[in-house]
Amino acid sequence: MPIRVLPEDVASQIAAGEVVERPSSVVKELVENSIDAGSRDIQVETHAGGKRLIRVADDGCGISATEVEVAFYRHSTSKLSTADDLNRITTLGFRGEALASIAAVSHVTLVSRAAQESVGSLLRVEGGRVTSRRESGRPPGTAVTVEELFFNVPARLKFLRADRTERRHIDAWLTRYAMAYPGVRFTLSHDGRVVFQSPGNDRLRDVIVAVHGLEIGAALMEIETETDAEITSGNQHSGSHIQVAGFVSPASVHRANRSYITLFINGRWVYDTSLTYAVIQAYHTLLPTGRYPLAVVMVQMPPADVDVNVHPTKSEVRFSDGDAVFRAVQKAVRRTVIQRSPAPSVHSLSSTWASPATSWREETRERGRERLAALGQQPSGEQLRFEPRPSGITSPDRDILTSSEERIPPLRVVGQLGTTYVVAEGPAGMYLIDQHAAHERVLFERMLAEREQAQIASQVLLEPRPVDVTPETAGVLEEHLETLSSLGFHIEPFGGMTMLVRALPALVADTEPNQILEDVAAALQAGDTPLASRVEEIVARQVCKRAAIKAGQVMTHAEMEELVRTLEQCASPRTCPHGRPTMIHLSVAQLAREFGR
Ligand code: ADP
Ligand code: MG
Repeated sequence: MPIRVLPEDVASQIAAGEVVERPSSVVKELVENSIDAGSRDIQVETHAGGKRLIRVADDGCGISATEVEVAFYRHSTSKLSTADDLNRITTLGFRGEALASIAAVSHVTLVSRAAQESVGSLLRVEGGRVTSRRESGRPPGTAVTVEELFFNVPARLKFLRADRTERRHIDAWLTRYAMAYPGVRFTLSHDGRVVFQSPGNDRLRDVIVAVHGLEIGAALMEIETETDAEITSGNQHSGSHIQVAGFVSPASVHRANRSYITLFINGRWVYDTSLTYAVIQAYHTLLPTGRYPLAVVMVQMPPADVDVNVHPTKSEVRFSDGDAVFRAVQKAVRRTVIQRSPAPSVHSLSSTWASPATSWREETRERGRERLAALGQQPSGEQLRFEPRPSGITSPDRDILTSSEERIPPLRVVGQLGTTYVVAEGPAGMYLIDQHAAHERVLFERMLAEREQAQIASQVLLEPRPVDVTPETAGVLEEHLETLSSLGFHIEPFGGMTMLVRALPALVADTEPNQILEDVAAALQAGDTPLASRVEEIVARQVCKRAAIKAGQVMTHAEMEELVRTLEQCASPRTCPHGRPTMIHLSVAQLAREFGR
C-alpha cells in the first residue's frame, strides 16, 4: 500500500482512542474540565454504566458563546499558549484534546453559559460533526452530555464490560477527585440513584468518611505537616519545596492489597509505583506481611519539577528529582505513623524472631482459635451467631460471636433415614436432621471463622485452568477478586471472557472450576451492590452448598455422630446458610400427644 495521510476523521478516532478508553475516562476528563473552571458544585449522572449516557454539570466559569465551537477543536485550550507554559501547569487539563476526542466517538451536547452572559449556548456534536447550535437558557456554568459512547467504534464497544464494572471505574475516578478537592461538592448518580456525595466543606476527613465509611474515616491519622525549620533544612538537601499532607491508616488498620493507597501530585491523581512503595515502606515492620496501609497522600510541589505530559491520560508523571519526592513522602508518612501509633510492647521488641507485626498475627490466630473452640463450649442456653461485619473493615478486635437462643442440646444419633435424614434424640425429644442442610451450616460457620483469621485452606490446581465465562460473570468476579482470594479462590482475568483459575478453596477443590465460578457469580449478581461482609457470606454459601454431603449419600454411624457434634457447636444450628431448616424437632410432649398417652 502507498503511504498516505489519513483522513481527518480516522486520525481523530485514533487520537480519541488514547484519551477515551471507557466511560470512566469521559467522566474523568469532564470532571477535570469542571474543576479547572473553578466549579464548587459538580454533578455527575450516568445511565447504563455510562454507556448510554454521561452528564457532567458544573457551576464554573462557563464558555462564552463565541468559543463553544472552538472548545471542540483538537488542540484547543484556554490553559496554555506557549511551550514554556508546559513548565507551569497548574490546571488538570492542558492538552486541549478531551472534548475533541470525546466528540469524535459519541454524541455530545454541550450547554454552557459564561458568568457575564445573559443566555447560554447549546451545541450538539455527533461523531465530530456539529449537528445543531442554538441559544439555551441555563444558570452560569456548563453541562456536557455524552450519549452513545463508541457508537462509531465497534471494536471499543465490544470491550466495554458489564454496567456494574463500568460504574465501578467511574466511582473510582469520582471519589479520587472528591478527595483531591474537598472544597468542591461532588454528586454522583447512577441510573437515577445518588450513590455518592461529598460535602464540599473543604475537610478531607469528611470526604474520606463519604468514600470509606465512618470507621475508616475516624481511624485514619492526619499527616503531620513539617515545621518551617524542617522544610528549610529539607530543602537544602533536595533544593525544592515538597509538601506532603493527607491521611494514613494506623498500623492496626490494613488491607489485602495496595489499591487503597491514593496519591495526588498538585491535585492530580497519579499512578506511581515508586511513591506507593514509599508509603508502604513507611510501615516497615509495623504491618503483617501481605497487608497494606490505607492512605490518601497529597503532594504539593513546584509545577516545574514534575512533568505531567507523559501520557495522554495524564495519570503518569515524571519528577526532576524522584528520590526527593520519595523521601519526602516516606518521611512524612513514617513520622505520622510512629508518632501516632501506640508503641510496640516490650515483649514483641525483645523477641528477635517476631516483629510487632508477626506477633500481632499470632495474637489474632490465638484469639481466632479460642473463638473456634468457643463455638462448642458456650454454656447451654446461651447462643452464638455470626454478626455481619461492616463493609470492608478488617479489625482484629471485632467480635464475631454474640449470643442468641437457638442452640441445640447434645444429641444421640439413632440412625439414618432414607439416606437423607439423620434421626437423633435429645432430652427434649426426637430430632430429624437434614444431612445436607446441616453439613452446609457446619461448613459455612467454619469457613467464616477461618476467614476471620485468614486461614482458609486453598488448593492450588496442578495446572492453572482457563475457564470461559460470560461477560457478566467475568465482570462480577473481577469486581470481587480480593474477597474471592481471601476465601481461597485465586483467579485472574485472562483476556476476553476467560478467567484463569489457579487455586480453589480446598472444600471444593475437586469440583469443576467453571461450575463453582458460575454459581458464585450468579449468587453475587442476585444481590445488588452487596456490602463486603455480604459478599463473603454469599461466596461462602455457594462453596458450602457444593461441598456439603448430598442427600442420598450413605453415612456411617461415626460420620453421623461427627456431623451432629459439629452442628451442636454451631451458632445457628437450626437453619442452613440459605435459611431452610436443618432439623425438625418432635418434643416428648408432642410424641405423647400423638400417641394419646
Ligand atoms: P483542556 O482541558 O486540555 O484545555 P479540553 O478539550 O478538555 O482541553 O477543553 C477545551 C477547552 O474548553 C478548555 O481549555 C476550556 O477552556 C473549555 N472548557 C471545557 N470544559 C469546560 C467547563 N466545564 N467549563 C468551562 N470551560 C470548559
Ligand atoms: Mg480537559
